[in-house]
Amino acid sequence: MSWQQRLAQALDRRRAADGWRQRPVIDHQTTRTLHSGGRLYRHFSSNDYLGLTQHPALIAGWQRGAEQAGAGAGASGHVTGYHRQHAALEAQLADWLGYDRALLFISGFAANQAVIHLLGEENDRILADKLTHASLLDAASHSPAQLRRFTHNSPASLAARLASPCSGETLVVTEGIFSMDGDSAPLAAIAAQTRDAQGWLLVDDAHGIGVTGEQGRGSCWQQGIKPELLVVTFGKAFGVSGAALLCDAQTADYFVQFSRHLIYSTAMPAAQAAALQASLGQVQQGDALRQRLQENIQRFRRGAASLPWQLMDSVSAIQPLIVGDNAEAMALSARLAEAGCWVSPIRPPTVPPGTARLRITLTAAHQPDDIDILLEALHDAAG
Ligand SMILES: *Cc1c(COP(=O)(O)O)cnc(C)c1O
Repeated sequence: MSWQQRLAQALDRRRAADGWRQRPVIDHQTTRTLHSGGRLYRHFSSNDYLGLTQHPALIAGWQRGAEQAGAGAGASGHVTGYHRQHAALEAQLADWLGYDRALLFISGFAANQAVIHLLGEENDRILADKLTHASLLDAASHSPAQLRRFTHNSPASLAARLASPCSGETLVVTEGIFSMDGDSAPLAAIAAQTRDAQGWLLVDDAHGIGVTGEQGRGSCWQQGIKPELLVVTFGKAFGVSGAALLCDAQTADYFVQFSRHLIYSTAMPAAQAAALQASLGQVQQGDALRQRLQENIQRFRRGAASLPWQLMDSVSAIQPLIVGDNAEAMALSARLAEAGCWVSPIRPPTVPPGTARLRITLTAAHQPDDIDILLEALHDAAG
């Protein structure tokens, strides 16, 4: 088989499964609205949960940062790319979340890959929730450590995995809020079990940071745990992009010495670190935004309870409606688009086969009217 044939076969299979993916061209968007193909939609597919992407303080932070430090970092942090803006942001994050140190990464994907890549050695095991993000599972499946997955959000299943012997170290991996289901992990039980087994816990809180917990400190703070390794990302509630690993001083030293993702990659622009400091300030004083988001979530759930599709058991900004069939999910998304609501369908392999869904995301920027119009369109589509 040639390269061309291999690619053609994979593409044919994807088309035949109603799984063909496209990147819609967006002409303009705010957290609440989206212009594409000459039409204006209400926007229910953004992870900008607090509406900070548009915030003047963040935009001013980027602009001032770029004027002072240039558009790009110019080198990896180990050469000359580590600006005082990066150092300041790391110190603020560590202080805010109660860790010795924070290390910045260019994305959540990179941070997760870096952690798994660096820590997993032969004879170790990585025990990951079945629904953890692709960035974690991909890295774990390429790691010399053995990857075992436990039943989603099941401390009992984790306990059974932990009970089998392992000659190396154990890394347990889960998420604060799951990206495609919107539900929360039982972190206290998972942390206690991990500790009893002398393992380390990694929590990816991409969807919890900024949104939940006191001052938006996230799922771990809210559930009263402090995992050895906490990854927070800045492309969602923080309204920018990038990520940080929170850990103790020795672990941070180890990453600075040995993490190839830090050493061989250009640092994030200092201007971005400046924008992120502005964002952190908004997140910390964001109680009113978090309150508005909660009201929107409750308004949506009240109205969606009688829909014929399964509404996931989620109290987060992620409110998926499980449709099941790929083509049906696409058709429902198209119906909503006709009614002026932009809701992305999510299909396998991003979610398990037979669980294609509409992933509705709510934000603090939505008005009650936006939610009501979405609900009306869903009820109309249900017939
Ligand atoms: C979005 C996401 C990531 C990736 O973060 P990026 O900064 O977008 O690369 C990692 N983990 C989870 C759970 C996510 O939802």
